[in-house]
Amino acid sequence: MKSCDYKLSALLVLSGVLALPATTSAAQAEAPVQQGADPQAIDQTAFDQCVQKLKARALQEQIAPAVVNSQMDSVQYVARVIELDRRQPEFTETFHNYLGQRVNEHRVQKGRTLLKQHYDLLLQLTHQYGIPPQYLVAFWGLETNFGAYLGKMNVLDSLTTLACDPRRSEFFTLELLEALRLVEAGVADHGTMLGSWAGAMGNMQFMPSAYRRFAVDADGDDKADLWNSLPDAFTSAAHFLNQLGWQRNLRWGREVLLPDDFDYALAGRDVRKPLAQWRQLGVRDVAGNRVPALDLAASVIVPSGHNGPAFVVYENFEVIMGWNRSEFYALAVGHLADRINGAGELKVSPPEGERLSIETVQWVQQTLNTAGYDAGPADGIFGTRTKRALRKLQKEQGWVADGYLSDDVLQRLRAWQREWAQAQPAQTGETP
Ligand code: CA
Repeated sequence: MKSCDYKLSALLVLSGVLALPATTSAAQAEAPVQQGADPQAIDQTAFDQCVQKLKARALQEQIAPAVVNSQMDSVQYVARVIELDRRQPEFTETFHNYLGQRVNEHRVQKGRTLLKQHYDLLLQLTHQYGIPPQYLVAFWGLETNFGAYLGKMNVLDSLTTLACDPRRSEFFTLELLEALRLVEAGVADHGTMLGSWAGAMGNMQFMPSAYRRFAVDADGDDKADLWNSLPDAFTSAAHFLNQLGWQRNLRWGREVLLPDDFDYALAGRDVRKPLAQWRQLGVRDVAGNRVPALDLAASVIVPSGHNGPAFVVYENFEVIMGWNRSEFYALAVGHLADRINGAGELKVSPPEGERLSIETVQWVQQTLNTAGYDAGPADGIFGTRTKRALRKLQKEQGWVADGYLSDDVLQRLRAWQREWAQAQPAQTGETP
C-alpha cells in the first residue's frame, strides 16, 4: 500500500471542513483509490481554465493579488502526479512486510544516534509539549528517513494538478489556498516549495494546512522552515501532536500476550475497556505479568490475526492515527519509538503470510455478501465492514473469530463456500 500525506485532514474532518471517506487516511491516505474516476488527463485548455477559477477563488479568499498572479501564472500540470494518485495497489500489504520495511536495525541505530545528538532540544520539547524524544525521532524516521528524503516535487504544481482533477478537487483546492498563504507569509515560493507528489513538505512531511496551523519558528529567524531547520521541524511536530491531543506521560500502547481462550471478537479499536478489565481477561505483558489494574482506556489489536503479535493501545495511539490514519503506521511509530528508546524486537514476530491480491479480497467480499454476511461493496479493500462480516462467519463456524484473512482462513473459506453453494437450491432461472 502506498502512503501519501494528507496531514491534518483529521482535524479538518473534526471541524467539519472536510468529509473524507472512512477508509481514507487523515494524515496520509493508505488510499484505497476510488474506482470509476476518469483516468483521462485533462487537456491544456481545461487546465488553464481551471487555473483561472482557482485564481478567482484565491482572490475571493483575500490572498494578495500579487501572490496569486505571480505564483499561479507559472503553475504547470504534472501528469505524473495524477498517475501516482491513481496508482492502484495490487496487493494488500501484510503487517510483516509493512513493519519490516519501516523498522529495521539500521533505522533503529540511526534513530538512537540522532536522539543523542538532538537530546537537549528534544527534552525541552518534552517539557513544553509532552511528547517524549523517541516519538519525535520515530516520526522523523518514518516520514523522511530522518530528513534523507524530503521530496522534490513542486508543491504548487502538484496541488494545482490535484485541485483540477475531479477525484478530490475540494480537498486539494483548500491545501493549495493554504500553500498560497504560505507564499504570502514568505515561507517559500513556487520555485522553492518542494515536497511529496501530494504536497507534503519538509522533515516531517506537513501538508500546507498543517504547516500554516502548527509550524513553529523555534530557532528565532522569524520563519518556520520545516525543510532546513531541525529545531523548527521537531518543534512543529511536537506542537502538532500536542494539538492532536497527546496524553503526557502515557505510552502509545505495548505488545501483550493473550490467553489461549481469548475471545477475538473483542479485538479491534472499536472495543475499548479499562486496562483493569483486560487484566481480568488474562492479558499479560511480554514478560508474562498481568497488565496493571489501571482505569486506562485500552483496545486490543492483532494486526496479523491470532497467530501474530497482539497489542494494547491507548489514547496516544489514536493521536498517532490523527497524524496518519493507518493502524500499521501507528504501530510502526510506536514500535520504532520503543526500539530507539532501547527496547528489543517484538516478542511475537508477525507471521510472513501471503500478500492478498485485490481480486482475492473481492472474491471474499462477494462470497460473504452472497451468503448473507454484510461485507460491504466488493472493492478489494479489506476494511472494517468486511472484517466484521468475516468475524461473524468465523464465529458461527467455530473458527477463531479474529477477522483476519490468513492463508489458513482463506482455504477454509474456499471449502466452506463450495459446501455452501452445493447446499443452495439449484438456480434454474425458470419460474416454478
Ligand atoms: Ca526558523
